[in-house]
Amino acid sequence: MLVAAPDIADQIAPDKAPGIGADHVSVAQYRIADEPYYLPVRDEIAQFQAAYAARLPLMLKGPTGCGKTRFVEHMAWRLGRPLVTVSCNEDTTASDLIGRFLIDARGTYWQDGPLTLAARAGAICYLDEVVEARQDTVVAIHPLTDARRSLSLDRKNELVQAHPDFQLVISYNPGYQRMLKDLKQSTKQRFVAIDFHYPAPDVEIDIVMHEGGVARDIATHLVGIAGKMRNLKGHGLDEGASTRLLVYAATLIAKGIAPIAACSMALVQPISDDPDMLEALNSVVTSFFG
Ligand code: ADP
Repeated sequence: MLVAAPDIADQIAPDKAPGIGADHVSVAQYRIADEPYYLPVRDEIAQFQAAYAARLPLMLKGPTGCGKTRFVEHMAWRLGRPLVTVSCNEDTTASDLIGRFLIDARGTYWQDGPLTLAARAGAICYLDEVVEARQDTVVAIHPLTDARRSLSLDRKNELVQAHPDFQLVISYNPGYQRMLKDLKQSTKQRFVAIDFHYPAPDVEIDIVMHEGGVARDIATHLVGIAGKMRNLKGHGLDEGASTRLLVYAATLIAKGIAPIAACSMALVQPISDDPDMLEALNSVVTSFFG
């Protein structure tokens, strides 16, 4: 059965709403009312807009904590689309995304998963760290990424045609666990990609000030520390300190933790367990805040 997506998809019937027992669940809950703060790093806003205008599936590539999730939140707000986000992990199955039959006192009923909900409603669906999900999950999204723009609910014997406003966005960290897990070429080549890096220092300083609530001199020191730490990537560190961790360090400082202790908590301890590396990182911190 081919089911056309509704033109006005703001009302989702209860059997199509994941995990919520209300009589009528509105996709409006996935709308972003207030502008998420996002400082552009390059021309990624225009690139996303162009990809969305053509409804091209989009991959955001880059290290963890560099702003990919914030960016997609900002873009969903800009484009006026609801945003359905799924954080994938190694237990994420195709059913988790697509949906499943459930049983309650009334009997058996179908419950759409978040991807199906987004496809029906014309939302942007953001699959964060999709490489973590099981392979059947990745294969299930393939028909949504080409001209078919459809999603097969095999167990329900239904083919969902995606709403014209639907877009699929995935994030992908090329460095992380690449030797253990990687997306297949047959999946990668279904997406256009925007490459993310940590923001340039002047932009990152503004982000840390805004998000962490610290003065410019503190933010400048934190970004300076991150610059040194990022140079250690591949020399004993898998990844340097992310913008997220810089924001955490700033937040702790704004809450009254001394800068060296805050850096230890947010920038040093989370990213290494190796005693020599910890010592090297602590000396980077004291060279800025000592
Ligand atoms: P990712 O999805 O890449 O792991 P996030 O989007 O969660 O990273 O970014 C982590 C945090 O860093 C955000 O919550 C935000 O505080 C901050 N951040 C990173 N880049 C930006 C940016 N360009 N503009 C505003 N905030 C940013």
